[in-house]
Amino acid sequence: MKVPFLDLKTQYENISFEINKAIQDVLNNSQFVLGDSVKEFQIKFAEKHNVKHCLGVSSGTAGNHMALWALGIGPEDEVIIPANTFIATAWGVTLCGAQPVFVDCEKDSYNIDPVEVEKAITPRTKAIVAVHLYGQPANMDELLRIAKKYKIHLVEDAAQAHLAEFKGAKVGSLSEAASFSFYPGKNLGAYGEAGAVVTNDDNIAVKFRMMRDQGQSQKYYHDVYGHNYRMEGFQGAVLNVKMKYIEEWTKKRREIAERYNELLSGIDDIILPKEMNYAKHVYHLYVIQVRENDNTRRKLSQYLLDEGISTGMHYPVPIHLQNCFSYMGHKKGDFPVTESLADNCLSLPIYPEMTISQVDYVCLKIKVFFTNGNRFKSSSEKEIEELIFQKIPK
Ligand SMILES: *Cc1c(COP(=O)(O)O)cnc(C)c1O
Repeated sequence: MKVPFLDLKTQYENISFEINKAIQDVLNNSQFVLGDSVKEFQIKFAEKHNVKHCLGVSSGTAGNHMALWALGIGPEDEVIIPANTFIATAWGVTLCGAQPVFVDCEKDSYNIDPVEVEKAITPRTKAIVAVHLYGQPANMDELLRIAKKYKIHLVEDAAQAHLAEFKGAKVGSLSEAASFSFYPGKNLGAYGEAGAVVTNDDNIAVKFRMMRDQGQSQKYYHDVYGHNYRMEGFQGAVLNVKMKYIEEWTKKRREIAERYNELLSGIDDIILPKEMNYAKHVYHLYVIQVRENDNTRRKLSQYLLDEGISTGMHYPVPIHLQNCFSYMGHKKGDFPVTESLADNCLSLPIYPEMTISQVDYVCLKIKVFFTNGNRFKSSSEKEIEELIFQKIPK
């Protein structure tokens, strides 16, 4: 059986009729940048995340930049971000000319550790970026408390967390400003590069609008330095179609995660992801940990690949150890939780189009791997198959 890491082709085939029509509509009205499709998208996306303003932009990275820029972050400022994130969180800071300050993540949630955030605050600290990594919201109560106490800004990088919730409130609505990515592989994916910024603050929305479009307050009147961070009409059109399915797709992801949790529980060699009691996790990624110090992770991913199953690593090198930040002088050991995750993480396939038999097949192969690796007393694949299917509730 083949289990790709994600399956954009099947998703397209399922909705191709609507997508083709939406793209044809853009061709017909020729609104290729912003335009009606993007306007419609902004309204729908703001509604879904319970925020007042949403602006379609060119990428999540642009959104990371915009969220901090709109709050006045600039040179001399420090912005605290998790070491355990995708690199684009850091670009949001560097694009403002500010200095990222990395902190370790929590053992359970894999998100930024508020205790470490508080330790990292200096007189130059101007903001914290909460990343809702893998689709699970960070501990926003604690981060909000810290932001208030030290009078600094808090923004969210929600690139991986469309529709995720913290204590029942949607991500993006929990701080001053937030960014989303619609890179094709994200939970809500465009057919090219796209992103969004959201806020409840009218002044920030005005700044977003100018920054997105050449710093203009009106056509050819440039009040501030700007960028070209506009969303394309085609992307708005594709996202409008996909938005009809996002709730259903999120439910599917959660069901797959639940089945993984159930079928993979009890294997001592792996650690499963934890959904925190304050969180509704949307499982952009299902990340397990497998000890790498005896090469088990590498062997498992190769074995799964040989059996037709693709896996990933998110992320193999934490950002404080990336070459581009070597000037900061970080070394191995600075952020032990993040580093151990980098060494041991393995992302299993998870996407709404994944079938239950594909999920079961992945679990079966993982069980077979650990059994044949002499970790359990050896049994045949057939026996394991019986074992694993016994555990599945009818
Ligand atoms: C994908 C991602 C981004 C960047 O989004 P792009 O649309 O690819 O620019 C930023 N932050 C995180 C956490 C991401 O996963």
